[in-house]
Amino acid sequence: MAEPECIFCKILAGEIPATIVDEDERTIAFMDIAPATRGHALVIPRAHSADLLSVGPEDLRAVALAAQRLAGRAKARLRADGVNLLNSCGRAAWQTVFHFHVHVIPRYEDDPLRLPWIPAAGDPATIAAAAQELTGG
Ligand code: AMP
Ligand code: ZN
Repeated sequence: MAEPECIFCKILAGEIPATIVDEDERTIAFMDIAPATRGHALVIPRAHSADLLSVGPEDLRAVALAAQRLAGRAKARLRADGVNLLNSCGRAAWQTVFHFHVHVIPRYEDDPLRLPWIPAAGDPATIAAAAQELTGG
């Protein structure tokens, strides 16, 4: 189940140190070593799966619930004003560690994070064409 070269499997095995902030039967959560904001944590399933598309439904559910739990604590205990949950699936989507994980990023009114794109109206025909491909039409 563990992948020998996976750093998150090594954290699970206790071979690499991590600051664990939550755990249950299926998941653990630990502090991100390069936090985007104060309190940035990662939730992972104990069982190795590479990404969002390969994680099993029960682990996905458990990770989502753990992320919700941590989001609540970020607001209550860190006094965060909001929370971003982030998953990167694939290199093109910025994934760098290939053990499925969800970032729980507490947000503060005055924090420096900004959207990585500039919101602007899209071309309706392009949107419709993509929608048609997504729905298999
Ligand atoms: P991603 O780029 O979405 O795959 O996220 C990987 C995250 O793992 C990054 O935010 C890293 O800072 C974090 N990370 C990598 N190695 C460690 C580690 N040993 N302990 C804690 N976080 C880590
Ligand atoms: Zn792993």
